[in-house]
Amino acid sequence: MPTQRDFYEVLGVEKSASADEIKKAYKKLALKNHPDRNPGDEEAIERFKEAAAAYEVLSDDDKRARYDRFGHAGVNGGGFGGGAGHGDVQDIFEAFSDIFSGFGFSGGTGRRGGRRGGPARGADVRVAVTLDFRSAALGCEREVSINRKKSCTRCSGSGCEPGTSPTQCDYCGGQGQVVQAQGFFRVQTTCPACRGAGHIIRHKCNTCYGSGREDHRVTLNVKIPAGVDSGVQLCLQGEGEAGPNNGPNGDLYVDITVKDHPVFRREGMHLLCRVPITYTQAALGTKIEIPLLEGRDELDIPAGTPPGEVFRLRGKGIPDPRDPRGRKGDLHVEIELIVPKKLSEEHEGLLRKLAEVEKTQVTPHQKTWYEKLKDLFKGEAEEAQ
Ligand SMILES: [Zn+2]
Ligand SMILES: [Zn+2]
Repeated sequence: MPTQRDFYEVLGVEKSASADEIKKAYKKLALKNHPDRNPGDEEAIERFKEAAAAYEVLSDDDKRARYDRFGHAGVNGGGFGGGAGHGDVQDIFEAFSDIFSGFGFSGGTGRRGGRRGGPARGADVRVAVTLDFRSAALGCEREVSINRKKSCTRCSGSGCEPGTSPTQCDYCGGQGQVVQAQGFFRVQTTCPACRGAGHIIRHKCNTCYGSGREDHRVTLNVKIPAGVDSGVQLCLQGEGEAGPNNGPNGDLYVDITVKDHPVFRREGMHLLCRVPITYTQAALGTKIEIPLLEGRDELDIPAGTPPGEVFRLRGKGIPDPRDPRGRKGDLHVEIELIVPKKLSEEHEGLLRKLAEVEKTQVTPHQKTWYEKLKDLFKGEAEEAQ
């Protein structure tokens, strides 16, 4: 599973970096990995695109905020580094022309696939997957069935009926382009006969009618990394549709939705769970059973625990899918106090007795509260005079 690197890491800046620091860091990387300075170096181009994708997000306050909150999931669906090569280098120059101006670059390698009818990248395919809370937190595998075009089996993607082959276009002589001279000007246009392919298929394949691709339903096993949340989009590179004329495959995007859990709520990598206990349990202390993502645990509630108290169980939360070490968040157990609505006679009797005791034995906490009240009332009375 290809994973996207953290954008801050890509630019080599702190999470708290200012807009200016981010711009500087990007400029440095962009110039270092510029295609003009690294001709033919695919890795440099990848780094160039990766930096542009990171800068596109981190230079935009809104996108940066979403990225800080949701990670890559919050900002997918655009950008230059999204998948296998569809980030066009030319687009980067156009988007960040302010960065590149004044450095005398030609504008990179230019648009690829200029020749129409030639190999092109296949379309991306999207599929939605709904996971239960636990599977998403712990990671799982899911079968997804998708329709995607694949290279035609009958003609191996050539579009020609087996035993035949394409013939060179007579109109353009196989060039795909025709040049028309108009006075002093020479105008080059795409060949109207072959639409730029340079060849013509006279005997079209009976299965794909010359397109070289056929519909195909396929079931894939998708590995879902532990810790994904709703809104996360996984990208499986090369699992999209086959490209026309034996071009490269598109990508498959898996949109994740996670169902709610009856007990747990999620906050980032932390799990939250509220446990109700009674007044007597809170006052006297107790041991309660708490659920974990896997199994259960016991938690000691010390005597005198106030409602709202939060106990943190380290490492019992959700693993961070962006962390290579898979570090986990914590489980936060918040104590709630149950106040009974209906009382049995015995219960009520005991509580009334307790109330008697509490009247005579005012706790220090209450004492200060009553003293504050007394002072307040006294002050108001004096003011009124
Ligand atoms: Zn032609
Ligand atoms: Zn075919």
